[in-house]
Amino acid sequence: MFENKERTDLGKLGEFGLIKHLTSHFKIQHESSIKGIGDDAAVLNFKNKQVLISTDLLLEGIHFDLSYVPLMHLGYKAVQVNLSDIYAMNGVATQITVSIGLSSKFPLEAVEEIYKGIELACNKFNIDLIGGDTSSSKQGLVISVTSIGYADKKEVCYRNGAQEGDLLCVSGDLGGAYVGLQILEREKQIFIENPQIQPDLEGKDYIIERQLKPEGRRDIVDLLAQMKIKPTAMIDVSDGLASEILHICQQSEVGCTIYEDKLPIDPMTYETGRELGLDPTVCALNGGEDYELLFTIKQSDYDKLKNDVDITVIGHMTDKNSGCKMISKSNVVHELKAQGWNAF
Ligand code: ADP
Ligand code: MG
Repeated sequence: MFENKERTDLGKLGEFGLIKHLTSHFKIQHESSIKGIGDDAAVLNFKNKQVLISTDLLLEGIHFDLSYVPLMHLGYKAVQVNLSDIYAMNGVATQITVSIGLSSKFPLEAVEEIYKGIELACNKFNIDLIGGDTSSSKQGLVISVTSIGYADKKEVCYRNGAQEGDLLCVSGDLGGAYVGLQILEREKQIFIENPQIQPDLEGKDYIIERQLKPEGRRDIVDLLAQMKIKPTAMIDVSDGLASEILHICQQSEVGCTIYEDKLPIDPMTYETGRELGLDPTVCALNGGEDYELLFTIKQSDYDKLKNDVDITVIGHMTDKNSGCKMISKSNVVHELKAQGWNAF
């Protein structure tokens, strides 16, 4: 990957030199960040807010494939997917820590690319990088991001607050990241068989971006606050819509009915899915990595969001014994099943 570029061996800088090189230009912006990088621990002060913490571990070959994921995108995505969990609690994300394990195949220039992506995400979402850890790894790249944020006690949204009669809503559109991944996998196979052929990603920008450059929906958290809507339950769509709906239903002890014809699917996702022989509905239900927000609201809040083009009501919550169902376009009732990605 870095054959034609300058390669600076990480050993040249040493651990402390590397940390300084990577992090010295990150600026602290939040009043709550009392002490960032440079001591044994960071010090934060959230006054009388509730503190939200979420962490993710990403392993090369398991969660990402460096043959088609540019390192800058990897850094950006590692931060975004983690911030998404803070937004899913209806919180404000303010700080991250980043820990990395690097094998000897990575020169300084490669790590710099990852940190460019991390910095881009921090600047765009107003996040302070306040610490982390750095280690060598025997094989492959490891990145772990922890995000920290806050919310007023009464604003925090859990998965367990949905009630019978609530409306089930989702932001943006679904299935794009999964279909984008299928295109990247296809082009990778073609490249392995014939390296002369350039990847054909023409016209697929949106779904490729959905896969490589997802964005946490902080804007939806802000929008709901502006509309004076507090979701009764909320979760982010990382494993797939069906799997996330089942989490809300199980934890809230309710059932639900969703409607296939309401699922928000972008035309490019739809057409490309079809081209690849995939059912767009299945991509939307089980694809995952959309990082949209799935939430329930009281019926009385419906008028406040009904005209927003970025939020779709896809169904409603029912009583627990009715189960979790999807009514298909041809009016057939299907039971919702989690086919989300399972780490084990
Ligand atoms: P310690 O020996 O206490 O673990 P380190 O020498 O590992 O401390 O780290 C020094 C400082 O640099 C700490 O503030 C730590 O949080 C920060 N740091 C270490 N690695 C990273 C990294 N990859 N990204 C951001 N900050 C880091
Ligand atoms: Mg350390």
